[in-house]
Amino acid sequence: SHGQARAASGGIEVPGVANIIAVASGKGGVGKSTVSINLALGLRDLGLKVGLLDADIYGPSVPRIAGVHAKPEVIDGKTMLPLENFGLQLMSIGFMVEEDTPMIWRGPMVMSAISQMLREVKWGPLDVLVVDMPPGTGDAQLTMAQQVSLAGAVIVSTPQDLALIDARRGIAMFQRVNVPILGVVENMATFVCPHCGGRSDIFGHGGARAEAEKLKVPFLGEIPLHMRIREMSDAGVPIMVSDPDSPQAADYRAVAEKV
Ligand code: ADP
Repeated sequence: SHGQARAASGGIEVPGVANIIAVASGKGGVGKSTVSINLALGLRDLGLKVGLLDADIYGPSVPRIAGVHAKPEVIDGKTMLPLENFGLQLMSIGFMVEEDTPMIWRGPMVMSAISQMLREVKWGPLDVLVVDMPPGTGDAQLTMAQQVSLAGAVIVSTPQDLALIDARRGIAMFQRVNVPILGVVENMATFVCPHCGGRSDIFGHGGARAEAEKLKVPFLGEIPLHMRIREMSDAGVPIMVSDPDSPQAADYRAVAEKV
């Protein structure tokens, strides 16, 4: 549905950006950032012009996982130019502060930093801007969902009960402000042992799919728990770039096609 500047929720439109997609999770550490960048790359592979905005103000990970450590150039006194890698336009608060600076920010300041990265960055022209949201369903997330014209939200969860409870909260939050749920991704699903080939469901299996069915929202697919995904993320080369022909990259690509 790209090319349609129609947005479901109200508020901030971003010049140069046709569609904004939020990638959210009920809690941290479930793979939201990793899904965000690989989803962005999957959309790029579909021929779209794509940007990635790291709105995870408390733990910005885009500089590390996109392998970009530079300060954005500022033009005309305040507009920032997005950085670029792998054909994606990138912006993160992490480009502006040192990696070990603690982000002890209150909700309103988080929202103002995010809206600055939306409005005072010379994006585009982009078909899709993927926004890696802060984890959780607090004030900043709700404000973001309310104030930014979002085309939809992708919810990332592990198959585990606890993560699912939080994911359900995330879904409810977006639905409350009329943002369409594009679907749920089950991350860290099955682990296939590289030595014996045996399958282990470390965090359980199928929980997110079942939950999506129950809540009548689309299920976008499973991403396995795989060492190479973690290693390449840490190395700043997402698996969609390092191993584009791997089954794991195919899993992310399938998610992008469904979105
Ligand atoms: P979040 O954004 O939800 O906090 P991250 O995307 O930063 O989560 O992922 C947390 C950690 O888990 C990172 O080290 C990342 O490389 C790793 N990770 C994420 N998804 C997978 C996966 N499918 N297989 C292996 N490691 C993963």
